Amino acid sequence: MTTNETLLVVNPATGDPITTLPAASADDVAKAAEQARRAHDAGVWSRRPVRERAAVLLRLADLMERDAEILARLDSEDAGKPITECRTGDVPGAIETIRWFAEAADKAFGRIAPSAPDGLGLMSREPVGVGAAILPWNYPLAMTAWKVGPALAAGNCLLVKPAEATPRSALHLAALAAEAGLPDGVLTVLPGYGSEAGAALARDPLVGVLSFTGSTATGRRILKDAADSNFKRVSLEMGGKSPQVLMPDALAYGDELIDNMIEAAFLTMGQNCTAGSRVLVHRSIAEEVLERFTAAARELVIGRPADPRTQIGPLINHAAFDRVAGAVEAARDGGAQIHTGGLPHGLPPRGAYYPPTVITRAPAGSDVLTRELFGPVVTVQTFTTEDQAVRMANATEYGLAASVWTRDLDSAFRLARGIEAGVISVNAYSEGDITTPFGGWKQSGFGGVEKSTNAFEQWTREKAVWIRTR
Ligand code: NAD
Repeated sequence: MTTNETLLVVNPATGDPITTLPAASADDVAKAAEQARRAHDAGVWSRRPVRERAAVLLRLADLMERDAEILARLDSEDAGKPITECRTGDVPGAIETIRWFAEAADKAFGRIAPSAPDGLGLMSREPVGVGAAILPWNYPLAMTAWKVGPALAAGNCLLVKPAEATPRSALHLAALAAEAGLPDGVLTVLPGYGSEAGAALARDPLVGVLSFTGSTATGRRILKDAADSNFKRVSLEMGGKSPQVLMPDALAYGDELIDNMIEAAFLTMGQNCTAGSRVLVHRSIAEEVLERFTAAARELVIGRPADPRTQIGPLINHAAFDRVAGAVEAARDGGAQIHTGGLPHGLPPRGAYYPPTVITRAPAGSDVLTRELFGPVVTVQTFTTEDQAVRMANATEYGLAASVWTRDLDSAFRLARGIEAGVISVNAYSEGDITTPFGGWKQSGFGGVEKSTNAFEQWTREKAVWIRTR
């Protein structure tokens, strides 16, 4: 049984309980923040030579590599993610992130202002002090690493609140960090409820910076709490309704196009912030694309997450299933056509499995076209001109990502420029690698980016030192 004092972690594939953990209370959060502040003030991490900080983080990356299979299983069991996805995507990605920020730690230089001859203006970036990270359940370890890497490399102490459903990989990461030699109080993982532990972090007066990944509704709440408490710096990575734009020559990419479309739509069962959930295809190729895309969607292997062949596992819970199924049914009632291969027999009865689904002729304004469904559902719409494609791509309150397919460089540039989103991929479905910034526009993001050296801006403050020279 779940109470406010405990967190019950359930396997989404079977409905079986995995473990019960104590849930962090608001009081626990306040104490952890005080401990982190003391660690920061003592300088055990913030004033440690940056090469030494890097060495600890590199050891952490090595330990993650040693425990890669354990970490993959934790995320697969807690989130219902296919184990192959965790082994080949989430875990190696998280290790690379920690290693990359460790290596970048001592390469973040300050600046000198072009001041008058009698003055020297030095601008340096300093750690904020106590940082907090609030995380979603869809990429538990990978998202944790996106925040832990730059926050610790920059010299902060960090409080991490994993999502209710997926606390175990972050807890394991913290144990590995201790083994790697990270001092006490520098990284604290606080499993708990958003309404209690999450809200306490957002309101805590000692937390100087909060980096959040999750839904737009929660992001809005956190921003209000930050304003009502200490104006902590807030960075929000939120939802999306990302388009995949296919120009008339897109089929020149053949199977590569279809494979990328499938990954964009159905990776992590579509529970992916950058999911390409709206296919916008030029009318001239729409029929062939739809045929090949729906055929490929039917081929996806639906099964138990622990089976290495599985490509589609369960949704995170039955509430998610109801939301997705409800929106699809409403679209059907409104005249949409639903293309799906259904579910195979023999799936665990308590798993919230939903089959990959492609929707055409969705009614204008329907939820499947406008809301982030966070499930394996993708709409296909057609356009005739490039301008129309841009207008359709931008017809959403979100602006996280988009992909564009064409061999025409001019057209690719015009589309990339015209689409309002933080990350545009051309002839690929990709968020770029660790060197490229990741952050949303419009209601998908606010206040800072992840990945790349730009991520340090979230976790540091710039200080100007003015020296009078004589
Ligand atoms: P969510 O907003 O429900 O929860 C995210 C986190 O916020 C959880 O840890 C939760 O406990 C916490 N939380 C809830 N209420 C809170 C409150 N009042 N104060 C502080 N914290 C609170 O989101 P979710 O369902 O876990 O994740 C799915 C969402 O995350 C989707 O919208 C998805 O697009 C988004 N997401 C975005 C990115 C990105 O980088 N842009 C990446 C992954 C997921």
